[in-house]
Amino acid sequence: MPLVHDRCICLRKTEFSETSQILTLFSRTYGIVRVIAKGAHRKTKAGAGKFDGGIDFLDIGAAVFNHDPARDLPPLTEWNLREGHLALRKTLRGIYLGLYAAEMIDRLIEEHDPHAELFDRLQATLPDLATARREETFLAFELDLLRESGYLPELLACVSCGNVPDERHAVYFSPASGGAICRNCEGATPDRIELDRRLLRLLQTLLRLPRSNGVILRLPQLTRHQSDPINRMLADHVEHTLGKRLRMPKWVLGR
Ligand SMILES: [Zn+2]
Repeated sequence: MPLVHDRCICLRKTEFSETSQILTLFSRTYGIVRVIAKGAHRKTKAGAGKFDGGIDFLDIGAAVFNHDPARDLPPLTEWNLREGHLALRKTLRGIYLGLYAAEMIDRLIEEHDPHAELFDRLQATLPDLATARREETFLAFELDLLRESGYLPELLACVSCGNVPDERHAVYFSPASGGAICRNCEGATPDRIELDRRLLRLLQTLLRLPRSNGVILRLPQLTRHQSDPINRMLADHVEHTLGKRLRMPKWVLGR
């Protein structure tokens, strides 16, 4: 079984026995891997733990592990912390958004399916969640994740008839249909919810922003007044598509 070295972000951790942790890692090269860190909390005689005293969610580290998709919970053999996100851990809103990003990656991406670009996007996004630019940074990441995983709803035209909704009329969103619904189709779409036109326009703008080397240029600043309803709509859509509730929207959206 090959021992591999790779940069990883910890998406999820479960304490397992007094000394070990079960970790869901997002590996840049290998995608999502689940490993066991035996002795993560055990101190050596020199006082240092084998894994720097345990691994926390959203920690970024240089990891060494056995990569074998056929094996359940291979051991993590080394972990050197590269970024512990100390500033992020001091802002409650920022850490909730970081955990929500981690939860969605864990749910929407298959195990052992590499997504190096998405890894780079998450790595670049996490520090910005500690700043005043956190709402737009999170939403831009969320849209990239949904697009990359195939979960992005149709937001540029009516998902039912393909027409671009008329500026003068109300527009709707349907989690079951997976996108925007125009006035002509709303009668046949029982789960429709009315969508604020300004928010739909904002989403369409975000989806079309120019990029340079994967970095989004001219990202507009958003308030929670704008981002919360969009995040709620996207959470409804993801939960409907997965057929499962997500854990973090309760904390991010207060529901
Ligand atoms: Zn329509």
